[in-house]
Amino acid sequence: MDYLKLADLLLPTVCETPEYYRTLYPKRNLKPNAMVTRYAPSPTGFQHLGGVFAALISERLAHQSNGIFFFRVEDTDKKREVVGAIEDSTNTLHDFGINFDEGVVDSDSEKGAYGPYKQSDRIKIYHTFVKSLILKGLAYPCFCTEEDLDNTRKIQQEAKINTGYHGKWAVHRNSSLDEIMVELSKGTPFVIRLRSPENTDKRVVCNDLIKGTISMPENDQDIVILKTNGIPTYHFAHAIDDYLMGTTHVIRGEEWLSSLPIHLQLFELLGFTPPEYAHIPTIMKMDGTSKRKLSKRKDPEISVDFYKSQGYPFMSVTEYLINLVNSDFQEWRTQNPLVPCTSFNISFENMSKSGALFDILKLNDISKNVIATMDADLVYDLYLSWAKVYNTTIATKLIENEDYSKKIFNIERLNEKPRKDFVKWLDVAQHIEFFFDDFYKNSIKDGYNFPDHITIEDVNSVLTSYIDVYDYSHDNDTWFATLKELSVKLGYAKNAKTFKKNPELYKGILSDVATIVRVALTNKVQTQDLHEVMQVMGEARVIERLSQKFI
Ligand code: GLU
Repeated sequence: MDYLKLADLLLPTVCETPEYYRTLYPKRNLKPNAMVTRYAPSPTGFQHLGGVFAALISERLAHQSNGIFFFRVEDTDKKREVVGAIEDSTNTLHDFGINFDEGVVDSDSEKGAYGPYKQSDRIKIYHTFVKSLILKGLAYPCFCTEEDLDNTRKIQQEAKINTGYHGKWAVHRNSSLDEIMVELSKGTPFVIRLRSPENTDKRVVCNDLIKGTISMPENDQDIVILKTNGIPTYHFAHAIDDYLMGTTHVIRGEEWLSSLPIHLQLFELLGFTPPEYAHIPTIMKMDGTSKRKLSKRKDPEISVDFYKSQGYPFMSVTEYLINLVNSDFQEWRTQNPLVPCTSFNISFENMSKSGALFDILKLNDISKNVIATMDADLVYDLYLSWAKVYNTTIATKLIENEDYSKKIFNIERLNEKPRKDFVKWLDVAQHIEFFFDDFYKNSIKDGYNFPDHITIEDVNSVLTSYIDVYDYSHDNDTWFATLKELSVKLGYAKNAKTFKKNPELYKGILSDVATIVRVALTNKVQTQDLHEVMQVMGEARVIERLSQKFI
């Protein structure tokens, strides 16, 4: 076979050689253990948690080793492409603080010297390497139609033979140049297939950095590397791109594990040293007593939008995911309570080999702690950007009353054990609305939420006396002592123990008096520390609210 002639017939316009691209993309000049990793989604849908998980692991490993993390768009499947999916990926990476050094920035710009980073812009490169394989007799055209392939599959299934394009079923594998030329002259569409070495009983052994040593049958299929439209398949593009872009570690979902024999074969036939592989376990969830994959249909928490709309700070989700990656993270967090979670060094050794189990309660717990460590200014900023989209009424209040709002967020924040009311931004409004007069007035329209055992007479008598003793300048201790003194004077027991001994002697307990003040001011039975609430509200507002007629 005259491979030169065949190659020129099939890809007549390709004049570059693989050597040309090797020079164009030289070996990266990095420290010996620096990792080069990438996140390479296909723009066929919107971002989901599994994608963020893979991107985060790849980014962390690259940056903690002083390496490079890049973002590649794998858009070889034009039919399944979704408008806006690329921007959705870049926005998600940005929101989660997953910074890439090189890659697609938006639909018409990119950065980095190893591009283009969008596969549809790399067609010339793929064709060059396909041509080089044809020249070596390692690739050939196949003129089978979908129908031909379906028929073959049916026959194979009936005969219980391995399905696919292999062995004697690979009908165009040994076509002569003349036969090929006849088809080409007729304009018959064709794909280019890899001539696999046909070692049916050989096995490939790979040391996956998460799964350990894996042995699988070698690929015996003459897989398609270039489709009829001249676009490569994912497998082929992966080999070329990760080789030229100098990827040292391919970190991707375990759904790709079964394709590994194909990928290793491609690297071998192309004469490239393969990267290291690490296949990340799929994120699972408990459903009753059994584990299952997170499902797009059933589990809203699979989509990145869920975290956005609920208002989980991205730092919380990131911290949760790092916690899912490495089980020793919690111990590290206990020892390093205040540093960003991205200072933790993740490692392949401590990753779980089987499914990572998603647990929203754990995420909530982590998120509560993350928000509790933020200062009031940051809470204000992050909450405001969320509220601008999801709760514009409260956003307006926050903007109009910036200082007041920051004081509200600062309540019990500087304590040794800060208050942990907020799991996510969606929770915030219920804890802060009463500070704003409009909301407060609105809430009392339907009456005050005094507990049933407290009568309106008690409310009025407590509040009338309380206004007389209330002094804005009192510190917490004096404030409490004053409240206690008044309670005892009005016939309330100073604590529950005293009350229980002789309940008939008292109107109630000191805590009832505090509740009366609290409900009058906030219309809630439970709030942040009452003294702090009153200090933040300010004297005038407190007196005004306490002086209402409670009927
Ligand atoms: N484009 C592939 C996907 O959609 C990426 C696989 C890989 O990371 O190699 O998941």
